[in-house]
Amino acid sequence: MRFKIQHIAAEKLASAYTPTQHRINQIGVFLYVALCGTGLFRLANVVPAELAWIVGVGAFVGILLSDMFTGFVHWGCDTFGRSDTFFWGRIFIRSFREHHVDPLAITRHDWAQCNGEACLVGIPLTLPLVLFLPGAGSGWVIFFWSLAFFMLVFSALANQFHKWAHQKETPPLVGFLQKTGILMSFRHHQKHHRAPYTKGYCITVGWMNPILDRIGFWRFMENVSMRIWGNLPREDDVGTEGALQIMEHLEMKIPPNVRVQLDAHTSRS
Ligand SMILES: [Zn+2]
Ligand SMILES: [Zn+2]
Repeated sequence: MRFKIQHIAAEKLASAYTPTQHRINQIGVFLYVALCGTGLFRLANVVPAELAWIVGVGAFVGILLSDMFTGFVHWGCDTFGRSDTFFWGRIFIRSFREHHVDPLAITRHDWAQCNGEACLVGIPLTLPLVLFLPGAGSGWVIFFWSLAFFMLVFSALANQFHKWAHQKETPPLVGFLQKTGILMSFRHHQKHHRAPYTKGYCITVGWMNPILDRIGFWRFMENVSMRIWGNLPREDDVGTEGALQIMEHLEMKIPPNVRVQLDAHTSRS
């Protein structure tokens, strides 16, 4: 099946990123890295060596959850919403749309443009954890603290992992971690960028992708969302015709409430 995908012009999407936003992003990344460093330093001081393995288990579960969380945000921003709506659309959805039109643009973005927005969101969420790190009284406290901390940090830095998955040349350690499957590789992530663009939404480490894709998790979520909101998945990203072709390809039924909205568009245009 061939897809006639009509994306919004890449230049229009890219030009919406302003110098002021860039400066704010630089400050955001700097503050977030300092905050994470403080958190790790405090953790190392509080956890006795014999309980360090609990930090490892908490971190592992936290990274899995961050993979799932970034998948959820990525899927939501790819599938619904518009790139020109105030704040959320211009700041968040715009960058996802731009990435589909020009997947290599991310490799030209510096550290601030790549990670700024996510770090700015991560600061108020991570700060209470770092400030209120309890003493190492209980293994469960260490487990849940580590889970929450690593989930937040890996989610905030997901775009950096994503950028590495698009780069031909990566730092040697990153290349090694990608080859061993610990980090998301170029090959793994390319599934997301191939038509019909409906797989591989998890962009932290990508470990959850085979599971969520296989069980049809995203199609289930799209069916639920369509019934609640009445919006056609991917319509803003690939245009109405492209979105309908993808629905047909996925053998998904269009619920009556979505049909009503589509008919209203057609009669207006
Ligand atoms: Zn995407
Ligand atoms: Zn990508």
